[in-house]
Amino acid sequence: MTAILARAPVTTHAPIPLFDLKRQQARLRFDIDRRIAKALDHGQYILGPEVTELEQDLAAFSGVKHCIAVSSGRDALIMALMAMGIGAGHAVFVPAFTFSATAAVVIAVGATPVFVDVDEATYNMDAARLDEAVASAKSRGLTPGAVMPVDLFGRPADYPALKAAADAHGLPLISDAAQSFGGALDGNRVGSLAPISCVSFYPTKPLGAFGDGGAVMTDEDDLAAAVRQIRTHGRQGDGDEAMRIGMTGRLDTIQAAILLSKLTVFKAELNRRAELAAIYQAELGDICTLPPADSDGVRSAWALYTVRVKYRDAVRAALTDRQIGTGLFYRVPLHRHPAFAATLTGSEHLPVSETLADEVLSLPMGPDLTDEEALRVVDAVADAIASI
Ligand SMILES: *Cc1c(COP(=O)(O)O)cnc(C)c1O
Repeated sequence: MTAILARAPVTTHAPIPLFDLKRQQARLRFDIDRRIAKALDHGQYILGPEVTELEQDLAAFSGVKHCIAVSSGRDALIMALMAMGIGAGHAVFVPAFTFSATAAVVIAVGATPVFVDVDEATYNMDAARLDEAVASAKSRGLTPGAVMPVDLFGRPADYPALKAAADAHGLPLISDAAQSFGGALDGNRVGSLAPISCVSFYPTKPLGAFGDGGAVMTDEDDLAAAVRQIRTHGRQGDGDEAMRIGMTGRLDTIQAAILLSKLTVFKAELNRRAELAAIYQAELGDICTLPPADSDGVRSAWALYTVRVKYRDAVRAALTDRQIGTGLFYRVPLHRHPAFAATLTGSEHLPVSETLADEVLSLPMGPDLTDEEALRVVDAVADAIASI
């Protein structure tokens, strides 16, 4: 009997998931059905008119010259690396605190990921740590090839500082913007912040398809042309001659149709995410360590709202008891993933990434979360921390 008394109080509230894609689908279902039916009617399943329309709309949205719609965020990164000629013998500098794909794509093109620690406040790559990473790569006989920052949780990385640090070594930036489409820095939107930027349309990303998808964005004509070739088996136009090694890297017409529908409400959804982030920001400050708020200069796409707490796993368990969905992004820094063990020197010093991995906790976020639900999350976090 005492076990029952010790349990979290039973509430009559509905659970709050980390992501709620059902409400958005219900909001847009009529328009999405209509657009899918249109695509089925014309029958151009591969590179149909919706793909071209989406590419134009996304390029306009980001203020960038070229957008190439592709099969996933991971494939976008691989195609960007291939287009830039990154391969065997190259080092690519990636943050140690990110999704594993950021490093896996580097290995996929035959290059070596070199991990750079992140900034404790923003969770993004620390430009001040680039010099030592470049020196370490050179001492291993690698040729520095590119710097690949990630806009973690939707917040653009510090591109001006990263560009200065990369320029000092003659290195280009490749932006892993998988989580940040819709974000902006000094009035410039994600997609235009680096010479080449890679976006993901995985369903839970800020602009999500109903399946896999992604995009490569660039102002540079040569890079855009190369990515277009690589996307379709290395072919040029309608020719069957392979001009270079390519892949099956296209976005499906049906996913483009769905994304066109979602793009009509995307700005409103970004605003809603920012409102919710502001609620968390105002209510949670005394309880846990918060991500940096938006400012005039930096607009996050708020893909995730990720706080830091001590005893994170216990707090998470208490929230699960209260039916509040949470996420651990990321529980293991990249240099501790078995898949990357062979690329390590053994002398990696990445303390911030290690601390963050122990303390981060992502809270429910999405355009359909209500104020009332956000406040219930706040109360549950306060209760959970107080109970530990
Ligand atoms: C989601 C994600 C990717 C991969 O995108 P997919 O579309 O799932 O292939 C790459 N990098 C980061 C940082 C991501 O969050």
